[in-house]
Formats: sequence, structure tokens, C-alpha cells
Amino acid sequence: MPFKVRRFLLFVFLGLFSGHNSLTIIAKEQVGLQLKTIVIDPGHGGKDAGCVSRDGKTLEKDVVLDVALQLGKLIKDKYPDIKVIYTRSTDKFIALDQRAAIANRNNADLFISIHVNSVKNNNAAKGTETWVMGMHKSESNFEVCKQENSVIVLEEDYGSNYQGFDPKNPESYIIFSLLQNAHLEQSLYLADKIQTQFSKGPIKKDRGIKQGGLLVLWKCTMPAVLTEIGFMSNSEDLKSLRSATQRQKMANGIFQAVQQYKQSFETVVELPSPAQRPYRIQIFASSKKIAPGDPSFKGLTPCEGIASGSIYKYMYGKYTSEEEARKDLPYVRRYFPEAYITKVK
Ligand SMILES: [Zn+2]
Repeated sequence: MPFKVRRFLLFVFLGLFSGHNSLTIIAKEQVGLQLKTIVIDPGHGGKDAGCVSRDGKTLEKDVVLDVALQLGKLIKDKYPDIKVIYTRSTDKFIALDQRAAIANRNNADLFISIHVNSVKNNNAAKGTETWVMGMHKSESNFEVCKQENSVIVLEEDYGSNYQGFDPKNPESYIIFSLLQNAHLEQSLYLADKIQTQFSKGPIKKDRGIKQGGLLVLWKCTMPAVLTEIGFMSNSEDLKSLRSATQRQKMANGIFQAVQQYKQSFETVVELPSPAQRPYRIQIFASSKKIAPGDPSFKGLTPCEGIASGSIYKYMYGKYTSEEEARKDLPYVRRYFPEAYITKVK
């Protein structure tokens, strides 16, 4: 079951429990996240050009700024209620930790960092890839992280701002292996949608979703991705990166992915009414009225108390059929070995 539905069910059952009247059910509810603020982060800027084409004419910082601004415009045109914030909208140097700080300060719901890839003396590597925060699992992933993180050496006082982090030292990256990524599921979802959109072109080669210790994503407290929209070092990719029309298509690809993300995480779920879900798992009965969260429930949630004469019957779940309830029975019996399925009127 997708997590958003789980969360929704929990909400409904808790609402039921505290409301006494088991007929007051919210059959439709906004679930999951609401996309109110999006931070778009064009990589590099100012004294930091990012990667540069072999002829020196095309700079990563310019390409990504253009794509970022177009993406922001597409979002604002379609969704005027969404606040779009750029970490930079001009050719300006911004420290990596500042980029995350902008997103955190504004309580952003999504952070999208846009970059261009490059490898030395190799025309073969091409295509797009999208990164989420984590521990790199391969040497080539480490190379990309090293490259994107090395910007911090241009920052004043980077030693203290990044807790002694050395972008070139693999040992520095060990901190990321311990990282708890609360937003990994959403970040991966968006990354997947972006890659699917990119595969439609203009740069079709899909290098997939990657995980690594990227400093710009590190301190973000919301779903966050970093997308590499092509290779500056590949002559074919470069042609697309240089074309205003193709850049527009890339911005539109990210926009389509954001739309899918928005639709997925703002889905309104409709549940059958309680009358259509009369099956429960009775866990015990008591003459006492027991409050939710009481140790008697042994941590099992959601549970509901139904008054029946002078006693209260305590139930777990709500099901449309006996078969559906039976699937949960082994789980419930771990806590209450005598639990059984019942049908309430
Ligand atoms: Zn970059």
C-alpha cells in the first residue's frame, strides 16, 4: 500500500475513535503533501562557472539558469498558487549550504537543483541522470559527487561551514551512510518522473537515478533532487544544451514531472462509507471505556471502541469483506491471540 494511503487511513481511524460517533466518517480527504512552495536551484553562478564546453563558449552556470527560469515560469503560469523561489535568478555565486538554507527557511515542499554533467577527455559519456541524497555505491557516482561538491573550496570558510568536510576525501563521505533520509520515497518518485520525461528527448539517453552524498541536498529538509540534464563534454548533448528550443523542452520535461509529482502526492482518496465496511477484528471486550493510546491496546493502532449494552467491544480495522479482514488477522493475533472477525451493524 502506498504510504500516503496508509497515512490517510490512520487519520480517518483516529478521527473516528476520538469522535465517539462512529458514523461521522470523512469519506474524502486531501492526503499527503501539498505543494505550496518549490525552490529551484540553478547550479553554480558568479565566479563558479561549473563545467565548461571544450571551446570555452558554453558555461554550465548559464545553461542551468536558463532552464531553471523557464521551469519556474511554466510552474507559475499553470499554478499561480504555487510559490516559486529561485536560489539565484541572476549570475551570482551562492554557497552550497546557503541553497539548502533558502529552501528550509521558506518551508519549501520541494527542492530541484539543476546541473550539467561533464567528464574529462571522453566524448562517450552522454545522457541525463537524477540524483537523490544518500551514500554513493560506485566509483563513478563518487566522481560526480566530488565534482559537484568541490565548489565549496571557492567559498570562504568552507572548513567550518561544512564541519571539516573535504570533497576530495572519500572518508568525508562516510557521514552520508548514516544519514536518515525521511523524504527518500518522494525524492525517488520525482527523480523517476524526471528521468522518464527526459527520455522523450531531446537528450534521450537515460542514465537513471543515482544516490550520492551531494552537499547541496544534504541539509534540505524536504524532498530534494539534483538533475544533470546532459553532458557538456559530449558533442551531441552539447548541441542540445546550446539550443534555446531544446532547453525549453528540457524545462518542460522537469515541469511535467513536477505535475505528476503534484498529482500523485495531492491525491484525494475516496473510501467506501463505513456502512460498506462493516467487518472488524474484535480484539477484546471490557466494561471500561478505554482511551486511544492506552497500553491495553499493546501499541496496536488504529483501534476503535464500540459500546454494546454495558460493555465496550474493541475493534481493529474496517473492511468491506471477511476475506479482506482475514488478511490482517495474523498480524492482529500477534498482539491478541484470541482476536476474531466480526460484522458490526
Ligand atoms: Zn554542476
